[in-house]
Amino acid sequence: MLSLTVAPKRRYLVPFNPKRIPHLFTDVLIVGAGIAGIRAALSVDPKLHVVIATKDRIDLSNSAWAQGGIAGVFDPEDAIANHVADTLAAGKGLCNPQIVEMVVREAPERIRELEMLGTHFDQENGGIALTQEGGHSHRRVVHALGDATGKEIMRALIDKVRGEPSLDVWERTFTIDLLTYDGECRGAIVWNPEHGKTFVWAKQTILCTGGAGRLFRETTNPEIATADGQAMAFRAGAEVRDMELMQFHPTVLYIAGSSRHLISEAVRGEGGLLRDVQGHRFMPEYDPAAELAPRDVVSRAITRQMEKTRHHCVYLDVTHLPKELIAERFPHIRKVCQEFGLDLTRDLIPVRPGAHYMIGGVSVDAEARTTLPRLWAAGEVTSSGLHGANRLASNSLLEGLVFGLRAGRNASAAALSEPDRFTAYPLESTLADSPALKDELQLDDLLNSLNSEMGRHVGIDRDAAGLDSALRQVEFWDRYVGPREFATVRGWELQNLLLTAQLMIRTALARTESRGVHYRTDFPQTDPRQARHIPLIRA
Ligand SMILES: Cc1cc2nc3c(=O)[nH]c(=O)nc-3n(C[C@H](O)[C@H](O)[C@H](O)COP(=O)(O)OP(=O)(O)OC[C@H]3O[C@@H](n4cnc5c(N)ncnc54)[C@H](O)[C@@H]3O)c2cc1C
Repeated sequence: MLSLTVAPKRRYLVPFNPKRIPHLFTDVLIVGAGIAGIRAALSVDPKLHVVIATKDRIDLSNSAWAQGGIAGVFDPEDAIANHVADTLAAGKGLCNPQIVEMVVREAPERIRELEMLGTHFDQENGGIALTQEGGHSHRRVVHALGDATGKEIMRALIDKVRGEPSLDVWERTFTIDLLTYDGECRGAIVWNPEHGKTFVWAKQTILCTGGAGRLFRETTNPEIATADGQAMAFRAGAEVRDMELMQFHPTVLYIAGSSRHLISEAVRGEGGLLRDVQGHRFMPEYDPAAELAPRDVVSRAITRQMEKTRHHCVYLDVTHLPKELIAERFPHIRKVCQEFGLDLTRDLIPVRPGAHYMIGGVSVDAEARTTLPRLWAAGEVTSSGLHGANRLASNSLLEGLVFGLRAGRNASAAALSEPDRFTAYPLESTLADSPALKDELQLDDLLNSLNSEMGRHVGIDRDAAGLDSALRQVEFWDRYVGPREFATVRGWELQNLLLTAQLMIRTALARTESRGVHYRTDFPQTDPRQARHIPLIRA
């Protein structure tokens, strides 16, 4: 298929003049310090200098918020072929089978490696404890601290990074744009409150900026997930693909005033049941696997049931499970619910779907190479071919590990083969076409409006009329936001979200079928002729 094209309002979000900005030279620049970024950093040769730039504290990432666990075959009754088959089945014809095989085969080794790096996974009968999640045919999800797997993994990885003298972590450092010269990536322009803008020239750059959940109001993602990486890679000329594929998590805590905590799949894996406002258990009417059906099926079933019952949420029921199991397996969820006066042994948990995982992203091959020379990418910012049109639960931390390792190793080898040149390239960015800044923009208002528009027309149910209207609206906002010069992270994030929203809506319009997480009410069937990726490049 031919690539779709979109014209970003600008190549660089900020003006700069290399004579007025400090320069730093490094071997490898890694943007993002989640599981993918840190795994990449740990596979760079310690002879090389590495800068890891992360826009907030190092412990704030989707990775640190991961709950359920990581999938890998450890049970003797399970087999690699089963994990491959489950991943392909969830992916609905868009997975790359070689990538799936590669990732699944490597899973046990990557997980053992995390243990060697200091992660304590939960144990059972003298071995690693395994649970089962939606879409998995066997118990193969490894977890830690009950339901705070990401927190424990990231604790161990961050400890390790802090002890490595060749790795410099720059926290609260926002990467504004990737620098390109002669069609190759040469590093990035970053900003932090103490030093302002800085050019970081790198022999090789690795993008690990995570997801895009903040396009939507209802999301499980932390504030950092504003699609910066997808947008900056696109502006720099890298191909992105399948941007319509946003996975919604079926069960996000829905209590006014609370942040949207995810109620992990594992709760249903351990026997939790979904009931509507009348107490009716509805999932068996939608899918034979009932509560353990893939996420897209459960999310749509909940949406339908909310419409049917005209109620703003459904309820997760664990009151029939042993008290000890709840305390042991879901301490985090239990604590959050307690804060709102809910006792899981007695009360039902109000939930509804929320944006959770960005499946589409920067195209990478099996070696984590993007289409832009000298730029590698790993983790949620990418589209690697592992997830296809729907991600199987607990496969994404795994993807971050497998591709993070490859990105780091390959960037390292390439940087080692290149002598130090300390070249600053003659780049300049002006904002000639920027409109006069007479009126301060209300960024919160714009973000709220974008979130509402995306939820209304680009959420779980989509159709041509809604998508067209959303595109017109987002393009209108981008006409006056896109060309502006902002001096704050909030402004740059909004510009990135507006660009990514357009990429998402355009591909959602182009996929005139329903497949995996992409559901078109005007094209409810899957069309075998559309079992292909939808690439996008800069016009
Ligand atoms: C609540 C929740 C629960 C989940 N549970 C599971 C689970 O049980 N199992 C599973 O496999 N997956 C789970 N996921 C998904 C999984 O956590 C993510 O897909 C994965 O952690 C992504 O890792 P990453 O390294 O690609 O990105 P992240 O971990 O999100 O890291 C992104 C990094 O990039 C930085 N960054 C972003 N933009 C910029 C910028 N402009 N400049 C500088 N730095 C930037 C961020 O600060 C951060 O350090 C869950 C996700 C959520 C939100």
